[in-house]
Amino acid sequence: MKPNEHIARFGTVDGELQIGGLPLSRVAARVGSTPFFAYDRGLLDERVNLLRSALPERVELSFAMKANPMPAIVQHLAGRLDRIDVASGLEMQTALDTTIRVDRVSFAGPGKTPAEIRQAVAAGILIEVESGTEFRRVLAAGDQLGLTPNVAVRVNPDFAVKGSGMRMGGGPQQFGIDAEQVPAVLREYGTAGANVLGFHVFAGSQNLNAAIIAEAQRRTVDLVSSLAEHLADPLRYLNLGGGFGIPYVDKDRPLDLDVVAANLHELVDGPIAERMPQASPVIELGRYLVGECGVYVTRVLDRKVSRGKTFLVVDGGMHHQLAASGNFGQAIRRNYPVAVGTRAERASAEAVTVVGCLCTPLDLLADDVDLPTSDIDDLIVIFQAGAYGLTASPTAFLGHPAPAEVLI
Ligand SMILES: *Cc1c(COP(=O)(O)O)cnc(C)c1O
Repeated sequence: MKPNEHIARFGTVDGELQIGGLPLSRVAARVGSTPFFAYDRGLLDERVNLLRSALPERVELSFAMKANPMPAIVQHLAGRLDRIDVASGLEMQTALDTTIRVDRVSFAGPGKTPAEIRQAVAAGILIEVESGTEFRRVLAAGDQLGLTPNVAVRVNPDFAVKGSGMRMGGGPQQFGIDAEQVPAVLREYGTAGANVLGFHVFAGSQNLNAAIIAEAQRRTVDLVSSLAEHLADPLRYLNLGGGFGIPYVDKDRPLDLDVVAANLHELVDGPIAERMPQASPVIELGRYLVGECGVYVTRVLDRKVSRGKTFLVVDGGMHHQLAASGNFGQAIRRNYPVAVGTRAERASAEAVTVVGCLCTPLDLLADDVDLPTSDIDDLIVIFQAGAYGLTASPTAFLGHPAPAEVLI
């Protein structure tokens, strides 16, 4: 998708990009300082509504909080989605501070500490165990606290999914229990004092290929329905993962949600209804929910020409928005969509390179992009910044102040 398509998604007012209906310079004045992250509530709601109208009613939607743990966003989504998935003790506290029901919070991720496990058992949330050791610790915490923990088993599937930006299932993995080991783990721990509600399979992240996501979901349903025979009670929790990607660079095409949705309708009406009638199917999403509703906004501090190349030096950088610099695990650096937010309706007039304020050549936000002519104090906007932005960046590097975050 091109930068202009992103400008169109947010819309413009008074010649500027608008966020939540306000011109960008007004948002900046309201925040009081740059750089900052701004999230558009209307776009967030649009995304939730799109998913709700496309996916089968029986499918529950979960927010993977690590994508954006800003408390206002988490509360906003808590009121609109069915579940929240957390991956640390702090994320768990953030989820519990919202109005979501405790039994609608799940806790996944390798390396949960015994203290976090105890917190989770005490809170009564669903713990997705990633190993036999974790299962044992959950049971021990339940014993100590006199509580019956709610558990699901995260399964490392016996298949891998192509086309993911990050593969998190199939082959050897630190995530989940290998599918072939699950029956033995359930024999050992499955009837020892926990409610084992079901399974969680997460094959990978940032996938834009709907056919491959659909195939992974079919294979997951197949795998889980055979593993369900090893549970003491009928399966109630069927977390199919997610992995829905968003377009970050020019060449990326948006995910065809209709293809994924049609497949889920078939699965829900077919094998899930027949073989797991009591199961709640769950789709768990991070970036697809929040990534496209957010922008990272920086101010031009300096314009300089070095041997024919024009640089815009801005007051932000990779310490806040690491992914846009290409250093967040990307194999090849490609520009994120960028715009001059204060001149959003102007045509491109010059090729510039946007760099951050850190003393490293890695701090490159946009390399040789065509933008409208801009000046010192103009606001440069980086799109697709609503997920894996602030909390996925090395904020302490060089000691600049932390950026603000607003939900408008
Ligand atoms: C990170 C993660 C997600 C969210 O991934 P997105 O690509 O942001 O949708 C979902 N589930 C699990 C288990 C994760 O680790």
